[in-house]
Amino acid sequence: MTTRVVLATRNAGKVAELQRILAPYGVELLGLDDVAPYEPGPETEPTFAGNALGKAREAVRHTGLPAVADDSGVAVDALNGMPGVLSARWAGRQGDDRANLDLLLGQLADVPEERLGARFVCAAAAVLPDGQQVVVEGVLEGRLVREPRGTNGFGYDPVFVPAGQQRTTAELSAQEKDEISHRGQAFRALAPQLMAALSPKG
Ligand code: IMP
Repeated sequence: MTTRVVLATRNAGKVAELQRILAPYGVELLGLDDVAPYEPGPETEPTFAGNALGKAREAVRHTGLPAVADDSGVAVDALNGMPGVLSARWAGRQGDDRANLDLLLGQLADVPEERLGARFVCAAAAVLPDGQQVVVEGVLEGRLVREPRGTNGFGYDPVFVPAGQQRTTAELSAQEKDEISHRGQAFRALAPQLMAALSPKG
């Protein structure tokens, strides 16, 4: 029997990635484009986990289905962990990747190399209609470079080099990135916990 689960996103790439991870468990994953439309509220929590849980709870309320949501961003040492939960709107407009990246590079212009350490963080949450909830976090450690490189990925990928690598995450293939990424780690950790929560008790 397949279980239907909604992922609270319109990003087809995220739906495809989580669907690949959940397929062996017999889960049919829907995105927000596959359910009755609703307007997601603003992300107002100070933590990735809080925002992920908020988005998943909202999806349960609107669809009545078990829901998964993620929230992610980049945390930079020289900025005391910012942009963090503000990563998607760092330059003031939601989702303007180029403006966000340019602003970040401008802020780091005079920062010494040793403080360019950074990490991508992703919290993934599952909430069930009966109120059960699970939240896990994935982290990809790395450092920023000042010259953007590569055309894959999105957001801050062209300036982020994972620890132990020379290439930016925008120079990795989608599969190479999935294997190490904060989101891949979080989704892979969440999957068995979601299935345990969904399985009938007793
Ligand atoms: P959200 O989790 O979809 O709300 O997006 C968070 C923001 O963090 C994105 O708009 C990007 O700016 C940034 N971000 C999160 N994950 C990544 C990644 O894997 N690569 C590049 N930027 C990312």
